[in-house]
Amino acid sequence: MKSDIEIAQEAVLWPIQKVAEHLDIPEDDLELYGKYKAKLSDEYLKSIEDRKDGKLILVTAINPTPAGEGKTTTSVGLGEAFAKMGKKAVIALREPSLGPCFGIKGGAAGGGYAQVVPMEDLNLHFTGDFHAITSANNLLAALLDNHIQQGNALGIDSRQILWKRCEDMNDRVLRNIVVGLGAKADGVVREDHFVITVASEIMAILCLADDMDDLKARLAKIVVAYNYQGEPVTAADLKAVGAMAALLKDALKPNLIQTLEHTPAIVHGGPFANIAHGCNSVRATKAALKMADYTITEAGFGADLGAEKFFDIKCRMAGLKPDAVVLVATIRALKYNGGIAKEDLSAENLDALKKGIVNLEKHIENLQQFGVPVVVTLNSFLTDTEAETNFVQQFCEERGCEFALSNVWAQGGEGGIALAEKVLKTLEEKESHFAPLYDENLPIKEKIGCIATKIYGAASVSYTAEASRQIRKLEEMGFGNLPVCMAKTQYSLSDNAKLLGRPEGFTITVRDVYVSAGAGFVVALTGAVMTMPGLPKVPAAVNIDVDENGKITGLF
Ligand code: ADP
Ligand code: MG
Repeated sequence: MKSDIEIAQEAVLWPIQKVAEHLDIPEDDLELYGKYKAKLSDEYLKSIEDRKDGKLILVTAINPTPAGEGKTTTSVGLGEAFAKMGKKAVIALREPSLGPCFGIKGGAAGGGYAQVVPMEDLNLHFTGDFHAITSANNLLAALLDNHIQQGNALGIDSRQILWKRCEDMNDRVLRNIVVGLGAKADGVVREDHFVITVASEIMAILCLADDMDDLKARLAKIVVAYNYQGEPVTAADLKAVGAMAALLKDALKPNLIQTLEHTPAIVHGGPFANIAHGCNSVRATKAALKMADYTITEAGFGADLGAEKFFDIKCRMAGLKPDAVVLVATIRALKYNGGIAKEDLSAENLDALKKGIVNLEKHIENLQQFGVPVVVTLNSFLTDTEAETNFVQQFCEERGCEFALSNVWAQGGEGGIALAEKVLKTLEEKESHFAPLYDENLPIKEKIGCIATKIYGAASVSYTAEASRQIRKLEEMGFGNLPVCMAKTQYSLSDNAKLLGRPEGFTITVRDVYVSAGAGFVVALTGAVMTMPGLPKVPAAVNIDVDENGKITGLF
């Protein structure tokens, strides 16, 4: 079997104008970034505003193994399958971060014969959106420290600064740093922190903003610090909004690229799925809905995090109404949830599968709580056996769920036709009665309790004294009516990565709570959530190279 990058490099790409032509996008409305990438102009986005929306299909997954279970791969393959069947489909994905590309997981262009290309460009700098976000984030940090240096008219308490610098790299030494060392002219000394760019609030804001006005309104609300009276100081107070928005002008425009089979993909934005909401931009999704009859989009991590936030944060804020959900499972991850070690997942093991399938069961029930019809798909691995696959199929059918095997990794669009047919059947026969899980006007603790008990299956939620204090403070400050963005491990339905399957009777511990006022949600932290990852012992970066012709190897 060829590697992802070998498959991607063998592909003969269409010029991006030709991909756009199939969506009737005039060439004039493309802002070209080389031959194979383009941004969609604001004029174009305005010109399609009054069109009818197509169907919105979310791709999500069960709790994964550390390797990822193929949501992106499935999204890409499903889009290709629709195209093969003569349907007009667009895939709406997140942009990859350099952190995982050089760390453990690798890129995020899909895999096998279901990839978006050029994968090297997408996984590395793409159209520079993340650089723009990084710059806007760090401009705000620079203005903040300069304000303190220049006399601190706003009375910013340097012990209560919330804003962190960012960089799109896994670099653990920047998690906790001291800035301002040196002479008087070198600034005021204080403890500071870096987060990875995908964890920056600017990323979440860009992905939730409707347009430039909304982007600016959101940037203005960012709480950067508290003053000596304990009152919030915002980006607007620092007069940072205009310049940040100027830096983000082009990053706000959705990017168009293609799959290996030339199906259009809009890849835009990439917020973390823990401390942020984990899906591509609202602008990209809305544009896709106007451009095609079927929009396929992915939310990060498992459905307990990604899908819940897609529904409760993104769809609620943007007024989107999803029509169907594709829930990706793998035999590997089901066995992993049945307690099998990572190294032993390739061997047939029906007992472990039976034990682990309760994880799938819980996710099916969870998605049904949102009123959206569910199609389960098994992302086929070469090591899966017939007995294992049959077992999963029967399990799903007994629960009233459509089921399809997906072979998109090995076969591209052709391998996704069975799945596409089930999705089409579901769209025809089952109506979506989508509604968010909770009323956003409930008190913060009730919202968290609702997610923890109904989605995670927790018995109760406990709060550290600090978390309770922060919640009181946020409610007093008027942030009590925002949706909650839960930060939790992706490996378990609980807040303990080791509790696999379908844990019950557990308590979720909320250890801290803060507001992302610009993004428009309150973040509740459970467990140790990493906002600046580190690199592993052997980072993927050490195997990446480029030759004299510019051909990149080792990226995956
Ligand atoms: P996710 O979006 O859920 O994180 P990805 O689609 O990015 O997962 O896939 C993660 C990795 O797994 C990729 O490197 C991809 O090539 C690989 N992969 C996905 N599906 C398969 C499959 N059916 N067989 C083998 N490898 C796969
Ligand atoms: Mg993915």
